[in-house]
Amino acid sequence: MALTHRPVPLAIVGGGAAGLFAASVASSRGIGCLVLERKARIGSKMLMTANGRCNFTKDITPERMLADIGEPVASFAATALRECPPSMVAAGFKARGLRLKRMVDGRLFPASGNAADVVHVFGDQLRDASVPLLTNCPVTDLQPVKNGFIVATRNFTLWARNVLLATGGASFPKTGSVGDGQEFARRLGLRVEPLRAGLVGCETNEPAILAMAGARFEQGATAALLVDGREVFHAAGEVEVEPWGVSGAAVYNCTRYAARQGIRSFALRMDTPEGSWLVKRPAMRPLKEAIVTMGGVALDEIDPDTMESRRVPGLYFAGEVLDIDGPTGGYNLTLAFATANLAVRSVRSKQG
Ligand SMILES: Cc1cc2nc3c(=O)[nH]c(=O)nc-3n(C[C@H](O)[C@H](O)[C@H](O)COP(=O)(O)OP(=O)(O)OC[C@H]3O[C@@H](n4cnc5c(N)ncnc54)[C@H](O)[C@@H]3O)c2cc1C
Repeated sequence: MALTHRPVPLAIVGGGAAGLFAASVASSRGIGCLVLERKARIGSKMLMTANGRCNFTKDITPERMLADIGEPVASFAATALRECPPSMVAAGFKARGLRLKRMVDGRLFPASGNAADVVHVFGDQLRDASVPLLTNCPVTDLQPVKNGFIVATRNFTLWARNVLLATGGASFPKTGSVGDGQEFARRLGLRVEPLRAGLVGCETNEPAILAMAGARFEQGATAALLVDGREVFHAAGEVEVEPWGVSGAAVYNCTRYAARQGIRSFALRMDTPEGSWLVKRPAMRPLKEAIVTMGGVALDEIDPDTMESRRVPGLYFAGEVLDIDGPTGGYNLTLAFATANLAVRSVRSKQG
C-alpha cells in the first residue's frame, strides 16, 4: 500500500538529534517534511547525554571547534559548522524558551540540568508546525525511483522527493541507533567505513587500578596516550576508575584519538592531584558502550557543501550515520545539528 499519491518533499528517517533539528529547520523554511522514528519516542539518545544533562554545544567559534575536532572530519564539516555555528545552535534554543547554563570552559547545558527539556523544544516545535511524526515506525528499505524514493516501513510505503538519513551510529542500540542507515547506504552502493567505538572507556586487569574503583577526579586530571612509552596525545578532563577499568572525558578523548589513528596497542597514563597511574595495554570497551560511533558512510561519498550523496541524488545524510565524530564537550551534538541544517538548506535551494 502506498501512503502518498504525491511525493513528500522530504522524508526524514530518524527522530534523534540530527533528524529533529532537520525537521525543525525544514518546518521553519516551509519545506514539507515528515519524520519516521523507529522507537516509541523521539530523542532517546539525547536523553542520555551528559548523564541526562545534555551538553548540547560549546560556546566557541566554529574555527576553534574545527581545530578541536581534527582531520579528516574538520575539512568535511567546515561548511556545515560555519553555516550553523555553536552561537546559532544556542540562539535557536534560547529563542524557543530554553534557559541555558554556561560552564567556564564554554560547554552549554539547559539550565534545568534536564536533557528532556532539549527534546521537548523539538517536540513542541514539530507539534506547533504540524510536522507529521511517525513513531514505532522503523524504515526497512529505501529504493530510488524516477521522481524520488520509495521509503518502506513494515506497514506502508511512501513516496518522497528527497530523503534524509539521520539514523545515527550503532552504540547504545536500545536507543534505536543500530546501523540501519549505514546498511541502506551500502545497499545503494555507497562505501561505508567499518563501525567502531570512538569515545569509550578502557578495560584493565591491573590490581592497583581496580583497587581504586569508585575514585573520581573531576578537577586537575589529565590522561595521556603512550605508544612505545612515548606520549602521542593527552587530554584534560574527568578521570573515573570503574570496577573494570577507567573512564571519563579525558580517557574518552584518548581512545578517540587512538581509534582515529588506528593505534591498537597503547598505554594510558593518568595524572591526578592524588597521583599518577599507568594502565599498560588496556582494551577498549565495545562499540555498544561508546559515546560516539567511529566509521559510517564514507566522507568522500558525500558532498560536504550539501550533505547530498554524490552517487544518489536526492539522498542526504546527517549526524553519526556519517563517518564523523568529535571529542567530548558538545561537539557531537553540534555536528549532528550542523550537518542536518546544511542538508535541509540544500534541499531548499534545490527547490528554488
Ligand atoms: C551516553 C552518551 C552521552 C553523550 N553525551 C553527549 C553530550 O553531552 N554532548 C554531545 O554533543 N554528544 C553526546 N553524545 C553523543 C550524541 O548523543 C550523538 O552524537 C548524537 O545523538 C547523534 O545524533 P544522530 O541524530 O546522528 O543519532 P541519534 O541521536 O542516535 O538518533 C538516531 C535516531 O534514528 C532512529 N532510527 C535508527 N534507525 C531507524 C530506522 N530504520 N527507521 C527509523 N528510525 C531509525 C533511532 O531510533 C534514533 O532515534 C552522547 C552519547 C552517549 C551514548
